[in-house]
Amino acid sequence: LNTSNKPAIYLALLHHPVYNKNREIVATAVTNIDVHDIARSSRTYGLAGVFYVTPIESQQVLVSEILKHWTTGPGAKYNPVRAEAFANARVIASLELASQAVQEQENGQKPQWVATSAQADGQVSTYESYREQLTAGELPPQLLLFGTGWGITQEVLQRANIRLAPIKRAGEGAGQSGYNHLSVRSAVAIVLDRLLGNRAE
Ligand code: SAM
Repeated sequence: LNTSNKPAIYLALLHHPVYNKNREIVATAVTNIDVHDIARSSRTYGLAGVFYVTPIESQQVLVSEILKHWTTGPGAKYNPVRAEAFANARVIASLELASQAVQEQENGQKPQWVATSAQADGQVSTYESYREQLTAGELPPQLLLFGTGWGITQEVLQRANIRLAPIKRAGEGAGQSGYNHLSVRSAVAIVLDRLLGNRAE
């Protein structure tokens, strides 16, 4: 039951278009652990859906098999709680199709794209201000974008309606190295907690 004014929030894990080490645009391989962990975090924080985005057909088959195993196959009997986590997760060929799928599910309302990155270039929103906007109840559906490989391409970052600030440790310059390269599943959990976590606890 949605008791707040928050819009429906979706998440896309992009295996394409992302950079590789040489800043070429590639499609990365899906990892089983990301599929599991991101579905569980998304379910915990009440997201309306999760898209694993890959244009590679064999990878789509792989993700579908994982999802099927846990939602309707032997995994569902073994662990019904896991089936619940996967209920709103699906594989899809592109970000545009994910966006369209949200629009269809949300009575024709186009989602805003909300990008994440370990680096801040361009204008970024603080978590506090975005959280406030979410609660104010005036936003259309939201599609949170997370990358793989060496991160989401500039083109997608620039097309995003909102860019969230990079997660960093507290303190001056975030330490000597400024290292803040989280695994995507850790980044998802932190972002979802900052945006949707229970602050009263
Ligand atoms: N190969 C890596 C892995 O094991 O997950 C993936 C690296 S990928 C670039 C990590 C993604 O997580 C980024 O595209 C971004 O969405 C998010 N991310 C990682 N570190 C972050 C940070 N400090 N702040 C915000 N998002 C971050």
